[in-house]
Amino acid sequence: MTTTDTAIEPDDKDWTWVLREPCQECGFDAAATDPASVGSGLAGQAAAWRRVLERPDARERRRPDRWSDLEYACHVRDVLTIFTGRFEQVLTEDPARFANWDQDVAAIEGDYAHADPASVAGEIDVEAARLAAVLARVDGADWERRALRSNGSEFTAATLAQYLQHDLAHHLVDVGA
Ligand SMILES: [Zn+2]
Repeated sequence: MTTTDTAIEPDDKDWTWVLREPCQECGFDAAATDPASVGSGLAGQAAAWRRVLERPDARERRRPDRWSDLEYACHVRDVLTIFTGRFEQVLTEDPARFANWDQDVAAIEGDYAHADPASVAGEIDVEAARLAAVLARVDGADWERRALRSNGSEFTAATLAQYLQHDLAHHLVDVGA
């Protein structure tokens, strides 16, 4: 049985509204994002996370109910991995059907709090490059390919890329980067 981290409020919100209006928390306007630009931005995202992970207090929770920079970075690494698989599905299935991913369970089972910041920075580099390589294969009409999340949310490859870009931008705001 998994022990739960009671200080962190599970995030089971449906964030797909960020595809329709700018995010009130971070200001990012996903709908205005060119999906074809997302892949080429990933190396810069990875570099930003490397700087975050070099902070001397990266392991500390500034607030007890919020992840540390390190925990956010581990989450972002796993988001990159998950989205690599999801875009591979989108390119081979129509519609692609995504398995549920519980990010809060992943944080506990992955023991994010005890990860090594330098290792995580390297893992983010690797995962960002893998995801960029998959996104580079999405072209033309591929952006209209469809996907369904287990909660019923519908995406196209284009809105999935926009959703991803908001998620990454939002988490950099979460850590003040
Ligand atoms: Zn946001």
